[in-house]
Amino acid sequence: MSNAKEFPENFGRTIDGRIYKSYAYLQRENRRSGVPIMNWSEFLKWNQDKRAELEALFNEWESSGYQSERLPLVGLKNHSYGYIADNAFWTSRAELKKPPKIVMACSVCDTSLDQHYSSNGTWIMCSEFAK
Ligand SMILES: [Zn+2]
Repeated sequence: MSNAKEFPENFGRTIDGRIYKSYAYLQRENRRSGVPIMNWSEFLKWNQDKRAELEALFNEWESSGYQSERLPLVGLKNHSYGYIADNAFWTSRAELKKPPKIVMACSVCDTSLDQHYSSNGTWIMCSEFAK
């Protein structure tokens, strides 16, 4: 890859710019922590497959006035694996910051604990779900 200074001023706010800059991030992560990443041609191919997702996120970012929270970024489904095609997806910075949603299930009936609370906060007995 060539020097970033050769790119036009608004390159970062184009879809190609997001692809390029995101790959530069993956390379930094690879150098920093050794996390596996796609090579450049694999990444381009992956982006062809993910074009619709990236375009949707990019349009949201653009219409937000380029808010940093809406910036499209490459996320990982499973952090034990690296930035390989099946494990990566386009998302926004805001989505990446959200903690993973943990669904606790009732040990008796296996219904989500959220479901066990009625709208006024009272506990709904397991037997109510069996009906
Ligand atoms: Zn239960």
